[in-house]
Amino acid sequence: MLGFPDGRGPPQPAFDLAAAMSVGGRIAQAVAPLLAHTAVSGAAFGASLAATQVACMSLRISAATVLAPQTIGVACVVGASIVAGQASRRLDLMGRLGVHHSMVGSGYTTRKEDLIADALVGLSFFRVAGGNFRSALPSDVRFPGALSGESVPASGKAYANEWQRRELLRLFRRWGCHHCGSRRGRPIGDHMPPNMSAHGNTKGRLGPLNWQEPDEVVNRGLRSTIGRLPVVGRKLRLAPPKQRYYPQCESCSQKQSAAMRNWKKVLVFHFGGPRSQYFAGAFVGLRHALAHGEGTPAAGRPWRWSKVVDALMKPVREFQREFSDVVTIKKR
Ligand SMILES: [Zn+2]
Repeated sequence: MLGFPDGRGPPQPAFDLAAAMSVGGRIAQAVAPLLAHTAVSGAAFGASLAATQVACMSLRISAATVLAPQTIGVACVVGASIVAGQASRRLDLMGRLGVHHSMVGSGYTTRKEDLIADALVGLSFFRVAGGNFRSALPSDVRFPGALSGESVPASGKAYANEWQRRELLRLFRRWGCHHCGSRRGRPIGDHMPPNMSAHGNTKGRLGPLNWQEPDEVVNRGLRSTIGRLPVVGRKLRLAPPKQRYYPQCESCSQKQSAAMRNWKKVLVFHFGGPRSQYFAGAFVGLRHALAHGEGTPAAGRPWRWSKVVDALMKPVREFQREFSDVVTIKKR
């Protein structure tokens, strides 16, 4: 009888490479769709917000437009969340069926409940992560920017002192310019409201009013009323609204000077900056990755990168086939 002298069978290897590779492969297969979905939906979310910002710029709507953040800003985030969800859903069909969604046929429809769920997930994460709907809109350089957050108390119309400059540098390095998000160069302490709006120009004319700030609106109304009074108006002067410094880049500062000088509305585009709310799109994608194709013809099918590549290459292969057919017919 064949066997080992001690009767315990062959010695077991200390590390089973085949088993480890098998476990590693299973983990990679489980993680791959999660990574792909979050990346695709995150990119779709960012691209949608950038596109809506461009559309708002062309319509002259900014973060400083009255009620725009509460209406258009919310709509932009909802729209971007829905686009992110649809991108994720289409990726799921490619990863599970190996075809583009247009080839799936009547079995694939856009479900209303998916649109609502994606909008809610995107909106909720955006808010929970501290997102401000102003940031979905372009900045108007005459008012606090779309990315304005922390600021430093200003001492009237004077330039920033040493401590204020240090604080502004800290905020600028962390969040960037409050109008465009740039972190290049040295920050400038941008007075908000601008000196011209708070104190008036050399002729005493006050600059543009920020209708989103009730304090400034009341202050302007009182100053205007008192100024019209026959005797008191010449003697009584109401204090200007309290000003704050916001970190600003040199380019936006120059645009702001020109805008104030020429009484013109100048809008600037921004890329959002390092803010966690922009991961809202990735969370929408995660929802679809964890649904495993539910409600589509791909439900329950395994997700594979090779199928995504197949789906992407299909139109190329079809074009090659049609092209070779045309060449063959011409040769005949
Ligand atoms: Zn800037």
